[in-house]
Amino acid sequence: MMKFIDLQLQYEHIKKNVNERIQRVLEHGQFIMGPEVYELEEKLADYVGVKHCITCSSGTDALLMSLMALGIKPNDEVIIPAFSFYATAEVILLLGATPVCVDIDPATYNIDTHQIEAAITERTKAIMPVSLYGQCADFKRINNIAQKHNLPVIEDGAQSFGATHHGRKSCSLTTIGCTSFFPTKPLGCYGDGGACFTDEDELAAALRQIRVHGQSGRYNHTRLGINGRLDTIQAAILLEKLDILEDEIFLRETKAANYQKHLKNTSLLTLPTAKDENSHVFGQYTVLIQRDRDLVIKLMKQQETPLFVHYPRTIPEQLASSHKTNAPSPISNIASQSVVSLPFGPYLTDDDQVNVIKRLIAVSEKIQSQPT
Ligand SMILES: *Cc1c(COP(=O)(O)O)cnc(C)c1O
Repeated sequence: MMKFIDLQLQYEHIKKNVNERIQRVLEHGQFIMGPEVYELEEKLADYVGVKHCITCSSGTDALLMSLMALGIKPNDEVIIPAFSFYATAEVILLLGATPVCVDIDPATYNIDTHQIEAAITERTKAIMPVSLYGQCADFKRINNIAQKHNLPVIEDGAQSFGATHHGRKSCSLTTIGCTSFFPTKPLGCYGDGGACFTDEDELAAALRQIRVHGQSGRYNHTRLGINGRLDTIQAAILLEKLDILEDEIFLRETKAANYQKHLKNTSLLTLPTAKDENSHVFGQYTVLIQRDRDLVIKLMKQQETPLFVHYPRTIPEQLASSHKTNAPSPISNIASQSVVSLPFGPYLTDDDQVNVIKRLIAVSEKIQSQPT
C-alpha cells in the first residue's frame, strides 16, 4: 500500500540533527520543562508573531487550557463549526459547557461567518472556529462579530500551522491561538504535543499555571489545572522540524498545485481552493466527490492507494443524543458524506503522486460512465 503521509522520508532528511538533539536531552536529563522547551517557545512565538507561546501536551489540551484560562464553566456556550475533528467539541463538554454548532462555508469548509450572530445568546462565552485542512477561517469577520458582542475568540489551528490570513500567521489572529504537534500535522513531533499563543500577559500567565496543576508557585495550587506539559524530547525534535517548516510548506504548495493542475478537469471532483486573503498549508489535501465516495475509496484501495475521510460524521451527529440545540447544518452533512483526503505531504514522491492522479482519473471516469 502506498503511504498516506510519509514521515519516514522526513526523518531520513533530518536524522543527524534530530538524533543529536535527542542525545543532548538524554545527557542533560531535564526531561520535564528542560531548556529546549523554553527555547522552542521563544522560537515559536517569534515565528507566529505573538508575545507568548505556551507549549503543552497536545492540541486537545491546548484547546482545553484555553477554555479554562478564559473561565469557561458549566452552562456556558461556545460556538464552533459543525464540521471538525471531535476534539473541538469534546473540550467544551469536558468543562460542562455546551458546544453550539454553526454550519460551514462550502468553499472553505470553515465556519460560515454569516450564521455566527444568530447562534449568539446571553450564555455565549467564546467563539472557537477551526482552520480546517490548513486554511484559516475568516477571522477578520469573526473578530468583528466577537468585538461587537465582547467575546473572546480561540482559533483551533491544529491543521493550519504556518498558514496566513491577510498576511498574518495562523495562531496570531485571535485572543488565543491553538495548534497541535501530532505527528501528521504541518509541524509534527514524534508523539503528542501542542501549543497556545497569545499577546495577552494575563492569559499567558493563566495558561502557564493551568499547564502545571494550577500552580502559581511550587506546591501552591491557586487554580484548577492539568498535567499539560510538553516533553523536553518532543521540544528538541520540534526545534529541528521548525527549521525546515517553511521549506516543507513550499513543498506542500507545489504538490497541491500539481494535484490541481492534473485533476481540475475531473468533473466528479471539487478541489480545494484558497481565498485571496489566505495562504493554505494543506494540512490535508481534501477533495469533494460528487457521488459514490465509498466506491471511489474501495476502487482506489484495490490499487494500493489509501484515501481517508476527514470526517465521516458532523459534530452534531456525534453529539446527537446529548444536544438538541444545534441549528441544521446541511453543508456540513454534505461535506461529511462527500469529502476524501488524498495521499499528501511534503515528501509525497513524484511517482506516488502520478499514480494517485492516474488512478483517480480512471476511477472517476469509470463511475461517471455508470448511471446514477
Ligand atoms: C488534531 C486536531 C486536534 C487535536 O490535536 P491533538 O494534538 O491530536 O490532541 C484538534 N482539532 C483539530 C481540528 C485537529 O485536527
